[in-house]
Amino acid sequence: WRLLVCAGTGCIASGGRPVLEALQGAVAERGMAEDVQIALTGCHGFCEQGPIVVVEPGKTFYRRVSAADVPEIVEAHLVGGQVVERLLYRLPEGEVLESYPSIPFYARQHRIVLANCGHINPEDLGEYMARQGYRGFLQALAMDRSAVIAEVKRSGLRGRGGAGFLTGQKWEFTAGAAGEEKYIVCNADEGDPGAFMDRSVLEGDPHAVLEGMLVAGYAIGAQGGYIYVRAEYPLAIRRLQKAIAQAEACGLLGENILASGFSFHVHVKAGAGAFVCGEETALLTSIEGNRGMPRVRPPYPAIKGLWGKPTNINNVETFANIPHILRHGADWYANMGVGRSKGSKVFALTGKVNNTGLVEVPMGLSLREIIFAIGGGIQGGKAFKAVQIGGPSGGCLPESLLDTPVDYESLLEVGAMVGSGGLVVMDESTCMVDIARYFLNFTQQESCGKCAPCREGTKRMLEILTRITVGQGKGEDLAALEKLALVIKSTSLCGLGQSAPNPVLTTLRYFRDEYEAHISDRR
Ligand code: SF4
Repeated sequence: WRLLVCAGTGCIASGGRPVLEALQGAVAERGMAEDVQIALTGCHGFCEQGPIVVVEPGKTFYRRVSAADVPEIVEAHLVGGQVVERLLYRLPEGEVLESYPSIPFYARQHRIVLANCGHINPEDLGEYMARQGYRGFLQALAMDRSAVIAEVKRSGLRGRGGAGFLTGQKWEFTAGAAGEEKYIVCNADEGDPGAFMDRSVLEGDPHAVLEGMLVAGYAIGAQGGYIYVRAEYPLAIRRLQKAIAQAEACGLLGENILASGFSFHVHVKAGAGAFVCGEETALLTSIEGNRGMPRVRPPYPAIKGLWGKPTNINNVETFANIPHILRHGADWYANMGVGRSKGSKVFALTGKVNNTGLVEVPMGLSLREIIFAIGGGIQGGKAFKAVQIGGPSGGCLPESLLDTPVDYESLLEVGAMVGSGGLVVMDESTCMVDIARYFLNFTQQESCGKCAPCREGTKRMLEILTRITVGQGKGEDLAALEKLALVIKSTSLCGLGQSAPNPVLTTLRYFRDEYEAHISDRR
């Protein structure tokens, strides 16, 4: 038998560690250590059902397991070959589902970036390699550098951190920039409320991110890489450091890798948790040891980045896609998705939805399919009201837009954005003015203060919103909010300010009656 025990942050928080220890103890006590392999894994994605234990062969999915359940799992399943039915997943209609892939939460997903999460021990390089790990990098090493860039370009992969820029083109800019010394930076400064995609990938499959960086380093001609992770992700940092040490020990990182003449070193830099450090120039400034504040662009990092050298920055999910593109080819990747949005996207599904967790779907699936078919609909049988997509920079979309395909262009058209992948679902009891105020309060507090439109403008908007929510709004407030929002969007220095008004603008667009009700209640 092989037992996969989820050791992602979600399952650990719900009591996964005592389950792991109890399983190890019970198996040893029974003298079954030779026949039973217990592997800790990264996040399975279905966080709402944690702690999760999967038994192979058969992929039996046990959920909400506690240490007290362990003796029964060992006796009934491992010794007697009988599934413990009371720990299986049950549909709302009562049907019991035993096997992992048959559960609707997983059945509608297309897991590429998350393919290894929950299935391998992230601390074991051998397990990563047994699932074709580092094969993509070896293939890249045998190719011409420009051919690697052309392949990534042809795949249509766009940056998964929010901006959606074509990854291959970004690589081409840095490769073509003047100078011998170049850098690769992985942006793992995930800070959106409700987002935990990057954390789970780093915890569950750190070698995939390293492999993506290696391919980029080779293609661009860089010698060094930095992974900028927020210090609030200690498990991700530990697993990354372990993965780097393993890759160095077997010659996949360091000097003259596999006698190819290509040398590449990777360092982990822990960020102190400022949201603005997710902005690429602020992130670079922070790695250099200074206060993380955005710089004026141009020059762009591709020309003048870390320590003034050409630098390519991608986020965790973007790098984690690269090994798959190299292994399966650009056409395979480009055949998934819709229009100019290729491949799949990982979302953190949270809020008032039944199946909270981490999901990966092909680009172009509708919001309705994600929230209802995968997410299982709204908690407590309440009505859906809105979904906030793209974090504090994104927008709140109403029920009438649930059939919007999730792709870069379609979401921009309705005032939202794919962003990094946070999906916060709200039910009929949510006040949308409060929600707009919550997100604006977040961005206002995280504003670095460098430019006046963002520093002062968001403060004035927050004052107006607060006034409205406490019943002191005035008739002219809505027009003032809209005017301020448009000025801040068009004149702020960096993406934080440029996108901060989005939650207010989308709630004004789709839920204006709620603002008006707050104001007219006063009269
Ligand atoms: Fe700082 Fe905001 Fe200006 Fe960005 S837009 S530089 S966060 S003050």
